[in-house]
Amino acid sequence: MNGIVWKSTGSWYKTKGTDGRYYQCRARGKLKLKGIKTTNPVAVGDHVEFIIDEKGEEGQGIITSIGERKNYIIRKSVQKAAYGHILASNIDQLVIMITINKPRTSQGFIDRLLINSESFRIPALLVFNKIDLWSDEERDEMKALSSMYSKLGYDSLFISALTGEGVEDFHQSLARKVSMIAGHSGVGKSTLVNKLSPEIGQQVKEISDFSLKGKHTTTFAEMFELGSDAFLIDTPGIKELGIIDMEDWEISHYFPEMRKFLGSCKFNNCLHLHEPGCVVVEAVERGEIHVSRYLSYLSMLGGEDNRR
Ligand code: GDP
Ligand code: ZN
Repeated sequence: MNGIVWKSTGSWYKTKGTDGRYYQCRARGKLKLKGIKTTNPVAVGDHVEFIIDEKGEEGQGIITSIGERKNYIIRKSVQKAAYGHILASNIDQLVIMITINKPRTSQGFIDRLLINSESFRIPALLVFNKIDLWSDEERDEMKALSSMYSKLGYDSLFISALTGEGVEDFHQSLARKVSMIAGHSGVGKSTLVNKLSPEIGQQVKEISDFSLKGKHTTTFAEMFELGSDAFLIDTPGIKELGIIDMEDWEISHYFPEMRKFLGSCKFNNCLHLHEPGCVVVEAVERGEIHVSRYLSYLSMLGGEDNRR
């Protein structure tokens, strides 16, 4: 039978079959996909083929193959250097949840996620939460950040998961899509989902609380349906993302504001550092490329968080 993976716990995969039922599946021994080294062979969002396990309990299955992934969002593995951990696959939209404090979301974190989504041309939506707590200065800072991203093609929503402001707009942005939501622990993911569905919100909270227990616990993503064909994949609170499986020369291709300059630098292997005749650096100096984005770019180069 064909199915989609809704939840992973490391060795069991909750899979929804085309018959509309859920099966608890294990993966057949050799399922390695070519290319990337990952700590999880099967990811939430994967389209799989499975057989009903005759020897197992009712509703159990064995995944025999994974369909080619349209795209995926990957982070560096916490446990194993040089390995990636696929957060989710086959998504239509990446939702990045951002708060200015408690916790503060760094721009580096946002940009690393955006690099991931850009590499597959997955649209991204920035959701600024806890607007009810903002001072005037904080509001200005977040408005400026959102306006910078808007020029790059990323839309924003300003919401308060607590008061409900903007939550309906958020719900509408999920319609007829599979979205993956990511953010640090404490940004308000459970509170937000709880506003839309108290029952699902409680389950999201369990994922979130679990991921707070420490960096050595392995936590996993889970897919939920929030009506009107809106599928939301919740991921455990992420502290740091890391960049994996990307060559230095490739990274600038995933900065939309740099893309138009690529190929015009004097050297065709230009990494846009100190090379003479670099049109990217010139654009930074002219203010056409935001300095903070260029600094994000630099921090991703040379394996600063890559391959460490
Ligand atoms: P999660 O780890 O992302 O699931 O975060 P939670 O939903 O558990 O929220 C963390 C804390 O932030 C809780 O105390 C929430 O009540 C609070 N919180 C979430 N959203 C908002 C908001 O919009 N405004 C305010 N003031 N607090 C919020
Ligand atoms: Zn250059």
